[in-house]
Amino acid sequence: MGRRNFITAGLGLAATSVLPGIADAAPAEQTPAPRANKPVAVRAWGTNRVAGPLQEIQIERRALGPNDVLIDVLYAGICHSDIHKVRGDWGEPSFPCVPGHEIVGRVQAIGSKVTKFKVGEIAGVGCMVDSCGTCENCLADREQVCLKRTTFTYDSRDDVSGGHTYGGYSDKIVVTERFAIRIPPGMDLVSAPPILCAGVTTFSPIRHWQVSPGQRVGVVGLGGLGHMAVKLAVAHRANVTVFTTSPGKVADAQRLGAREAVLWSDTAAFKRLANSFDWLISTVPYPFEVQPFMDLLKLDSTFVNVGLGEARGLSSFAMAFGRKNLSGSMIGGIAETQEIVDYCFARNIRPEIELIRPDQINAAYERVVNKDIRYRFVIDFASTKPRV
Ligand code: NAP
Ligand code: ZN
Repeated sequence: MGRRNFITAGLGLAATSVLPGIADAAPAEQTPAPRANKPVAVRAWGTNRVAGPLQEIQIERRALGPNDVLIDVLYAGICHSDIHKVRGDWGEPSFPCVPGHEIVGRVQAIGSKVTKFKVGEIAGVGCMVDSCGTCENCLADREQVCLKRTTFTYDSRDDVSGGHTYGGYSDKIVVTERFAIRIPPGMDLVSAPPILCAGVTTFSPIRHWQVSPGQRVGVVGLGGLGHMAVKLAVAHRANVTVFTTSPGKVADAQRLGAREAVLWSDTAAFKRLANSFDWLISTVPYPFEVQPFMDLLKLDSTFVNVGLGEARGLSSFAMAFGRKNLSGSMIGGIAETQEIVDYCFARNIRPEIELIRPDQINAAYERVVNKDIRYRFVIDFASTKPRV
């Protein structure tokens, strides 16, 4: 069966003609395929006000450019960053705000110059969709810290369309192929999305600080990012301790591979563990007192706060005596994102997820804030679409 026939037969719908700049196109149920190379209206879940409930809305995806791929979204993860954004924790977003930066879907159309994907293949999109490509950081595969401007997957100025970007809580997304990630054939698609943010955000610092076998590593906050940090640090054969505020997660931490789980309230354990850690990573989303964790580090060791709440209460004296480092880290570059996807696939490392329908997003947000998710919600758009 030829490629066009395969796509057409798979969707059970009529073929569309090959368009200028589009090598192939296949329509899906909810959103008509592009009939000309112009913007297309698609269904999305977003809000028009700060902290407003997410509801079904229509947004426009830009016309497919020669280097673009049109992805029919199948699954999208819910990151705590989505909640920060929608709730205005980082200032008011642009509206409508459509979150989602852990996206897995099927390539439905490709621009005339696309070489990385064929129609029908599975692609992922993580936290960013564009960068200058020429600055020092981009040239070093650090597009996430582009010196000109990284275009993030949602709520970022979109230099191509002129509006702002919309994320993955949506039927379809158009992205330049450079920022689309190959999802290996045979990978479990339902659990794959969190790798694209939670996975790379914890993998990148693990690699940067060269976490190695036998090192004592602490993971603070066992949520979406935290559980991936545990799995990945264990995969690097570190000796992992989890620091949690949730007594109900102690046993789980051990099941995930941690040697020990310590409650924040256990001051005796903090005393016992003082000056003993080679590396710590925090994923806590809200302001917290950081010094008790700095006190756990060995001389010259590093605490990486990837959580985007404020790390408060640093003691200059304790830092001086301990000569310890406090750092941050921002997702990972595109090459690193591809690397972590391939790494997880090769080792069968899967995020632990709970699959929900789009109409359950608002309830899921409440549960994330209440630390009541083990460990990532993934929104199922696939079951709302015809099977391919
Ligand atoms: P999450 O799933 O909600 O997990 C966060 C965990 O932190 C919770 O499960 C909980 O773990 C702990 N926690 C939550 N509220 C807390 C509080 N008030 N005080 C102390 N501990 C608390 O969130 P996530 O999706 O992993 O994201 C975590 C943070 O990373 C967010 O701020 C997000 O925006 C940020 N982020 C940063 C990057 C980056 O590139 N730097 C990328 C993605 C996300 P326990 O129950 O174990 O205590
Ligand atoms: Zn995220």
